[in-house]
Amino acid sequence: MAYDPDNVFAKILRGEIPCKKVHEDAHTLAFHDIRPQAPVHVLVIPKGAYVSWDDFTATASDAEVMAFTRAVGAVARMIGVADAGYRLLSNVGANGHQEVPHLHVHIFGGRPLGRMLPKE
Ligand code: AMP
Repeated sequence: MAYDPDNVFAKILRGEIPCKKVHEDAHTLAFHDIRPQAPVHVLVIPKGAYVSWDDFTATASDAEVMAFTRAVGAVARMIGVADAGYRLLSNVGANGHQEVPHLHVHIFGGRPLGRMLPKE
């Protein structure tokens, strides 16, 4: 999948639309999901133009990969879900039901989250 520079997270990164920011560093931005699916629902994204986890890990620099993976853990601690537990999720492509084609990791928490996937 080619990167679409008009996706909504690219617009957030360019400051064209607002977000409820949780954390920002040189390579990473974290903000609250606009339609939370748990009491705590935060998205962590790299600032670079990467579609997905496999695109990112194949093409990003070591500094970007390190900053992003560290930021996910730091944000989980920052938003207060680390002790009680939380879930990380990154949807990729059609089968993953990815809606926004810019890599993002969802952090869900604030209540017991149930089983990993719904039963078919
Ligand atoms: P995914 O299905 O993993 O691509 O999820 C995309 C997520 O982005 C959804 O949970 C949306 O609610 C969220 N989202 C879409 N637009 C915005 C926005 N402007 N600000 C924050 N979150 C958004």
